[in-house]
Amino acid sequence: MIIINKTDLAGAMTRAQETYLLSGPVETFHGHTFRHLEPGQTPDLSYQHTLVSPKAVVFPPSDPLLTFSGNDWTGPDLAGLPPQAAVGIRPYDAKALHLLKYNFDTPEYKDPFFLSRFENLTLVGLAENQPDPANFSTSCGTGPFDETGLDMLLVDLGDALAGKILTDKGEAFARAAGLVPIPAEKKTAVASTIAELKTRAEKSMTSPREFGSLDPVSTLDLYEQADWEALAFGCINCNTCTFVCPTCWCFDIQDEARGQKGVRLKLWDSCMSALYSAHASGHNPRQQGWQRFRNRFMHKLKYFADKYGAGPMCVGCGRCIRLCPAGIDIRTIHQALSRLEAVT
Ligand code: SF4
Ligand code: SF4
Repeated sequence: MIIINKTDLAGAMTRAQETYLLSGPVETFHGHTFRHLEPGQTPDLSYQHTLVSPKAVVFPPSDPLLTFSGNDWTGPDLAGLPPQAAVGIRPYDAKALHLLKYNFDTPEYKDPFFLSRFENLTLVGLAENQPDPANFSTSCGTGPFDETGLDMLLVDLGDALAGKILTDKGEAFARAAGLVPIPAEKKTAVASTIAELKTRAEKSMTSPREFGSLDPVSTLDLYEQADWEALAFGCINCNTCTFVCPTCWCFDIQDEARGQKGVRLKLWDSCMSALYSAHASGHNPRQQGWQRFRNRFMHKLKYFADKYGAGPMCVGCGRCIRLCPAGIDIRTIHQALSRLEAVT
């Protein structure tokens, strides 16, 4: 267990930057966002949530896969990437990075762009003392103080941050940043303060609805029985929910070229967009907005859960609930689906 006085945080981050490419929460005109930190820039650990998730640390919105000139092409030097550390990531967002891995690291295909960053990444989490009202992460197998998948968990104690080192990567980060252990005589008091903060934070989270398995109902029953047009009422297919979601992984690959020269990019895309499912023939199997809505929720709540046995593809961050212009709440959709009965 380490301790950092907040006045020493900037110095610790500067030391860490000698070894790591750092990313962290930063205040912008539109609220907080999670991004790479400039040399000497300190993460703003007083934030509550970021509008867009930190998934860009492993899955950038625009990722150059190669540059080409005629028939010659060059890829990035993935083996030469510096170690990265995401400092101040919320536990639910750290879990989301692990859920993304199910898609990018399969027995059939391993995405070298995602994996080289993921394996190089140290996750320094920040517990959430006062969870956002839309946050229902405790219903999704994580929570405001969850340590799973993190290398270190920081807890805000007011004037200082206490840090629990969870893995060898966390240990290496603490060494690089020059973080010092908590004096032995203060350990018990700090541990009991952390336990109190954790209990208080978890108790403050009262999700109005259950969120769990849809196992009893088959995929086809959900697909055909649910009144998807009514559930999707109001959805304008704006794509906001998918772009802010930490677990959405849709992408598209496009070449941007001038003459014979150009770059091939992997770009975030959204299954809510009509063009996403359009075939080159002109046929679109998800022509209607409600069909795309159905695909999104079936994927999050059923396809992913059944395929990987890792629960829903949702960590309960609440971003899609806060930002949906139509007020659509994934918990309401889940509740409607869980009321359906299997057709025998
Ligand atoms: S944010 Fe809301 S309105 Fe926009 S696509 Fe998602 S569910 Fe539909
Ligand atoms: S579906 Fe919504 S609540 Fe769940 S992880 Fe994505 S943005 Fe967060």
